[in-house]
Amino acid sequence: MIQLPYSTGKENTLTKWESGAHPCFNAHARERFARIHLPVAPKCNIQCKFCNRKFSCVNESRPGVTARLLSPREALDHLDKCIQSTPAISVVGIAGPGDPFANPLETMETLRLVRKKYPGMLLCVSSNGLNILPFVDELRALKVSHATITVNAVDPIIGSLIYEWITVNNQQQQGYDAVYTLWDYQQLAIQALSFRGITVKVNTVLIPGINDSHIEVIAKTVADLGASLHNVIPLIPAKETAFESIPSPSATLIKNVRTVAKRYLPQMEHCNRCRADAVGMLTNTESRPLEFIAQSQQNTLTHDPKVSIPVTSRKTRIAVASQEGLFINLHLGQAESLRIYDIKNSKPVLVDIRKTAHANAGCGKKNWHELAHLIRDCYLLLVSGAGPLPIDILDTKGIKVKIIEDEITTVLSQIITANTAQCDKLYFQSATI
Ligand code: SF4
Ligand code: SF4
Repeated sequence: MIQLPYSTGKENTLTKWESGAHPCFNAHARERFARIHLPVAPKCNIQCKFCNRKFSCVNESRPGVTARLLSPREALDHLDKCIQSTPAISVVGIAGPGDPFANPLETMETLRLVRKKYPGMLLCVSSNGLNILPFVDELRALKVSHATITVNAVDPIIGSLIYEWITVNNQQQQGYDAVYTLWDYQQLAIQALSFRGITVKVNTVLIPGINDSHIEVIAKTVADLGASLHNVIPLIPAKETAFESIPSPSATLIKNVRTVAKRYLPQMEHCNRCRADAVGMLTNTESRPLEFIAQSQQNTLTHDPKVSIPVTSRKTRIAVASQEGLFINLHLGQAESLRIYDIKNSKPVLVDIRKTAHANAGCGKKNWHELAHLIRDCYLLLVSGAGPLPIDILDTKGIKVKIIEDEITTVLSQIITANTAQCDKLYFQSATI
């Protein structure tokens, strides 16, 4: 049997922060060492057909899911607290919930902060490889020791079945153009990282009927490029994705493809398919994600459910329909509550969460008038969908409805920027009651 990289057979004597102490790259280290993912990277520059980051259920455990996003400073604070409660943390990883290098400012700043405070900590990044290349020298300088590049296909026909689009230099590409570009950058990424002494693991999502007969070719190809480890991850069908009806691969299929791929690369067989905010030992299935932080930070927000609605002539607030408080991802008709934000010192602040009546009581005219009254201090409502009737009724009450699906913080920041620049787009303007 091929040994995993760094498996020395002396794992009991490994000290924290030796490169062999990464519990994902070395199965033997997972009994003693823990990892933490810092969710600072919300955006992604590609769209895989199996990925949906809109759903952030604290009970759901899969990559791309986080209870909340952290700024680099918040991430460092979070790390400090987690190290106190879990001293076994040997590695800090950035794995989303989007792609770390679609958010390079946040990712690199977080790595710099962690490196400064914890000079010996193992650092790890996980990316689709499209935009990591400009950062490989700084990653090396920061002593990032481990990287994961996800490669689901090295064949353009198979790749075109898996990827919907990519964005490069602010241009979106689709079809074969997208697949060729992505694979070009992925090859360069694996070579550049391994050339700099960074250990590269390749993740491949095993998608039955799409790439299951392609895993051997992927393993051989990425091994030739310098990858040290291969992690074949069974597909988790996610709601509202093109692949939602493809079933997870059977245990037999997983075993068979790993057996074949093992000829070229050691196989990671202990991956937990962790959330983007996972913390703890891989062996502890209850390793707690960030929801407890989300809850505690929620309590420290200026949110007060009984906050009175100001009786002023000017609407200043923004209402948001969100399932979990991270993304604008609810249709107005489904929104049992709306989050209310104020802009204070050019920053969005959650000030209230208001229960709506219409989600349970029906969507008649009367209920939309009640909704308009409920959010009468807001000039803008952000939702992922709404019918013409509520849009018209809210409009007559001076509340614009903007239909959009994105992160709340991203959209609110755009609104702040637009207001600062006195952008005259109608939905950015405040109005009078
Ligand atoms: Fe989702 Fe990752 Fe694919 Fe981006 S690269 S779409 S975050 S799975
Ligand atoms: Fe390790 Fe897999 Fe979890 Fe990533 S998803 S931290 S590789 S166990």
